[in-house]
Amino acid sequence: MSSHIDYFDCPQCGGNAQREQDNRSGEVFFSCSNCSWNGGEVEKTDIVFKCPNCKVEGNSYIECVLDGIHHQTVSIIEADDCVIYNNLESEAEVDRYQCEHCGYILRDKDNYNIDNEEDLILWLRRNK
Ligand SMILES: [Zn+2]
Ligand SMILES: [Zn+2]
Repeated sequence: MSSHIDYFDCPQCGGNAQREQDNRSGEVFFSCSNCSWNGGEVEKTDIVFKCPNCKVEGNSYIECVLDGIHHQTVSIIEADDCVIYNNLESEAEVDRYQCEHCGYILRDKDNYNIDNEEDLILWLRRNK
């Protein structure tokens, strides 16, 4: 083996990206098996939720379900990857995110419920 490869989630599409470093020259190459990302700066674009099940569109349809009985609706997702909640009142842990309209639960590629903002952003990128 003349190179070292690390795998991680593609910052552009959430697919399988890799960082390959040539042991001899030290050169580093980035690539993604799913899109054309090659290590460049990922353009931050506004992300808009579109439900794969009922096709409603808009970030106000993302319902954040907190541990227990509290429901919270995510209203805005800003371009800088920050999730802004509409009137967050509870400190409870996030249990899942779902479509407010049809109840579709957002799951990651391993079929686990999305339960944090980082994965939510990835999911939105991958499903836009
Ligand atoms: Zn990609
Ligand atoms: Zn839906």
